[in-house]
Amino acid sequence: MSHDQEQALGVFQYRDHFFLRVSEAHDHRRPLQVELHPGLHCDLYRCPHCYGHGQPPMPGRVLSVPEIAGMLDQVGDVNPLIVVSGITTEPLTHPDAAGILREIRSRDLRLGLFTKGYRFDAACADAVLRQGTSECFVTFSVDAVERDDYNRLHGIPVRHVAPHGSARHGEDYFDVVLANVRAFYEAKQRMGAAASHVQIRIALLLFEENSSDAAVDQAVATFTDTADIVRFAFPQTPNDGVALANVPDAREQRLHQLAERFKGHRKVRVLTNTAEPDRSRDFKHCHTQKFQVTIDKSGNVFPCPQVAVSNYAHLSVGNVRTASLSEILDSPQRRRLFDCRIDEDMKCRICDRKDEAVNAALEKLRLGLRP
Ligand code: SF4
Repeated sequence: MSHDQEQALGVFQYRDHFFLRVSEAHDHRRPLQVELHPGLHCDLYRCPHCYGHGQPPMPGRVLSVPEIAGMLDQVGDVNPLIVVSGITTEPLTHPDAAGILREIRSRDLRLGLFTKGYRFDAACADAVLRQGTSECFVTFSVDAVERDDYNRLHGIPVRHVAPHGSARHGEDYFDVVLANVRAFYEAKQRMGAAASHVQIRIALLLFEENSSDAAVDQAVATFTDTADIVRFAFPQTPNDGVALANVPDAREQRLHQLAERFKGHRKVRVLTNTAEPDRSRDFKHCHTQKFQVTIDKSGNVFPCPQVAVSNYAHLSVGNVRTASLSEILDSPQRRRLFDCRIDEDMKCRICDRKDEAVNAALEKLRLGLRP
């Protein structure tokens, strides 16, 4: 009998009761994850599948490295995972991105960086490889194995000169990304055991253009030599609700075929639960916000990464320039959101896949196990 069938029959579930107690005992002042969105723009990337497509960041002066370091000091004893990412910007477009990475790793805080890789230069690689011994992963969103597909999937205008002082053109982007990933991987290999805690991941979203067996095989052959993990998934619908035209049908079947083909592969992972592009409506409250915060480039604090843009300014619970992060974590504004309904009050059903899974699971546990 499956777990769901047993639950429907009212069979006592030790595991469910344990996880419910753990989640209810969690202290919201001690986040498991602090996510930083320090980027200013996206260089020449104009990805049609961008989750934050058409949703600009909040206005305001960008946080300096010392300001970010001050925030890190306030949560250091909690040891959250520090995610450096962006919903509508590339995080490494901050004027001193390597400096941010150094501040995180010099405190030996756990780091997860999500980047396109175009700006992941030697200074970034050094900051990640040469400091800290705790968990550390860098995920490069690549999505393609050939230059033309790469440019098309990421909406890169190939003749344009890259902005902000670079002499490169759009058509150079793919080669620069591959060179940066390769240089990082080789530097890691040279360091041997001293860098074994650093994991290099390649993420490939599947579209019509790159989901055939031949394209997937080419991706595996290309990237398993320069990464520790190569991951395949289908994209979610962007947050503006406009469905993508180039996502294939029969996605569930395709993911299971791929999972079967690469079963036991040391480096390949297939996210078989990413077949559905639309957001789940199986929960009414946002539980995951008690475990995390996201801070945008100007210091605004949000309940999750997807809403850290101007369209969801109503969900900002403070700014680290006018209050300390410790104060904001326990502020009435933040605690008020915990009881709000998503559709009626928060108006933000755009969770990323992790938060959607956590929200659905915790709501199911609470409804199933509490009168
Ligand atoms: S988008 Fe989802 S995770 Fe984010 S605040 Fe809204 S309900 Fe919570």
